[in-house]
Amino acid sequence: MRVTGEEPLLHLHAIPAFADNIIWLLHDGRSAWVVDPGDAAPVHAALHELGLELHGILLTHHHLDHTGGVEELVRSSGAQVHGPAGESLPEPVRRVSGGAQVQVLGKPFEVIDVPGHTAGHIAYFSVEASSEPLLFCGDTLFSGGCGRLFEGTPAQMLASLDRLACLPDTTRVCCAHEYTLSNLRFALAVDPHNEALQAYAVRCEVLHAQGALTLPSCMLTERAINPFLRSREPSVRAGLRIQVTVADDDVAVFAALRDWKNNFR
Ligand code: ZN
Ligand code: FE
Repeated sequence: MRVTGEEPLLHLHAIPAFADNIIWLLHDGRSAWVVDPGDAAPVHAALHELGLELHGILLTHHHLDHTGGVEELVRSSGAQVHGPAGESLPEPVRRVSGGAQVQVLGKPFEVIDVPGHTAGHIAYFSVEASSEPLLFCGDTLFSGGCGRLFEGTPAQMLASLDRLACLPDTTRVCCAHEYTLSNLRFALAVDPHNEALQAYAVRCEVLHAQGALTLPSCMLTERAINPFLRSREPSVRAGLRIQVTVADDDVAVFAALRDWKNNFR
């Protein structure tokens, strides 16, 4: 039951796009915002199906698979767009960076700087928007994995992931790609005796077989299973050392882990 004077919580909806992108949609039953709309068509279809009007767009970074639908969506809806300072984005865009707050349908989202995948990559986090805290982390954190280092250093990405790993256990982790199953194959190669990881991989295989998404994940799960959040764990370091010789240094270990993943088939 709704308490008088309290704003209703927002609903979260996943819109699959391209081969494995997910465009996250937040709505209050009338108005909607989307995150990283790489394509306008599936967003239009979802808005139509749910009977919603688009009011705003959040962008995490400049890659086309996250921004390609922005111009058409703005043209058709007049939605306001927020995106990272210092990245090349469709204009006009309201530039935000770490520490800023964005109001989404009356709910405050905190902007967190998470450089690594791109130099200006940001994430959006809110404890008030939904029944659980919500994180939109773009291509920084994936379930069981992390983004490739196109513009940033291993030290930057490790610091960005460390920052996200401090968010509450119940945080719903809304990644921009459904890469979970292939990430988990790598995670199991690194950390084969991790029972939480084994159980999670089984759950995700079942979801996949049902044609369901594995996302959103949650932060408690990611801290238990994701080798890129666990690169200081002895079991992850031991798994890595079977593959490569690496110094006992957090950044060197993280870099070697990311390199192994880049070449993992
Ligand atoms: Zn990207
Ligand atoms: Fe992407």
